[in-house]
Amino acid sequence: MRFEVSKVLDAIEARLTTDPALARGVVDLSEVVRYADLDGGRPASLVRLGLLIDALGRYVSEESVPVYAVAPRALLSDADLTSNERMVVRRWADDGKVEVVPQIEDRVLEVAEMLGLPVLTRDREDRFRDRRPWVTDPGRLLALVSNQGGPVLVARVGRGEAAPPVPRSPLGERLLARVWRCPQMNCNTYGDGGDPDSPFADMRTFTSPVSQPPPALRAGAPTCPRHGDRLKDMGARPATEVFSVRIDGVIRQRFVVSEDKAVVIGRAPEGGGGVMLGQWLTEDARKWISRGHVRLSLRGGEVTAQDISTNGTGIRPGGSLDDDQRLTLRRDERRVLGPEDIVELYAQVHVGRSKMWATGGVVQPESVMSEAPTMAFRPVGR
Ligand SMILES: [Zn+2]
Repeated sequence: MRFEVSKVLDAIEARLTTDPALARGVVDLSEVVRYADLDGGRPASLVRLGLLIDALGRYVSEESVPVYAVAPRALLSDADLTSNERMVVRRWADDGKVEVVPQIEDRVLEVAEMLGLPVLTRDREDRFRDRRPWVTDPGRLLALVSNQGGPVLVARVGRGEAAPPVPRSPLGERLLARVWRCPQMNCNTYGDGGDPDSPFADMRTFTSPVSQPPPALRAGAPTCPRHGDRLKDMGARPATEVFSVRIDGVIRQRFVVSEDKAVVIGRAPEGGGGVMLGQWLTEDARKWISRGHVRLSLRGGEVTAQDISTNGTGIRPGGSLDDDQRLTLRRDERRVLGPEDIVELYAQVHVGRSKMWATGGVVQPESVMSEAPTMAFRPVGR
């Protein structure tokens, strides 16, 4: 049983991010672990975060949807969690997978506002209304409720309506346009990796400048949410564009192309950091698509696709389904992508800007709970 739990926690870990370009919802981790009515289990259980992640995937009809979890420092020593769970939370904190703050206060609301993300909470909107009027807008608060087939997220306000996407706040945009540095030497979120010659340099993980989470704003100054120190402005942050992999109409994964890092997409790109499609491909597609197939790079606001494959890369200008309009890039050929151009590695194996595809197209996304002991998704009698 312990083994199964640790596999679930690994699956959950792969869905945690504080990257502003990738996170799809914000949650107070200390709150969701206590939703005991969902499984009738212990007062606190880290596995409940998996129920929430699955529900978010179903809500947006997309695979591999990540959440931004904020944890108050007290959770790291919460005696209601098992010692193994406490250890896992500490590791997530050390690796920057979850954001640890002295007290939650308004941090979840602040992140949601700056990034334009829904707050995943069971609290009622009237609890927050005085602090953040937008919580009464449709779709801004989503609550996890029991349902046959597993808990689902429902909008607390404007239930049943499709909520329009919410943009980042102007303040969020301003703060996310800069790279920040925390004066604390051990700050892995707003650090610079420290001394590269240190014997511990390899053991430390640092958030890359391009994926730094939004600073907290305290007394009008950008502040490290974990340490409370004022952050130093280190200059402009490299620009980013978010892309999606869409296979047979289903969004499998989002990824970020940034000005300082090109991304290789293929069956199994070498050297890590690329987007690996192999696990989602049919046998024919796997034969056709090269290990590293196409490279996307961003410069001066333009995204360029460069073919690096054996069989060539298709481009569908403006997303056109007309095969007569399809272009083929041969090895090393490049093309600047229009806003709605689709890169086609094989029939129905597509890459394009995420904002083009409003729905992920999948009814039952893959669960992070598949290895869970049966207790964890026992439906609740009502
Ligand atoms: Zn810090």
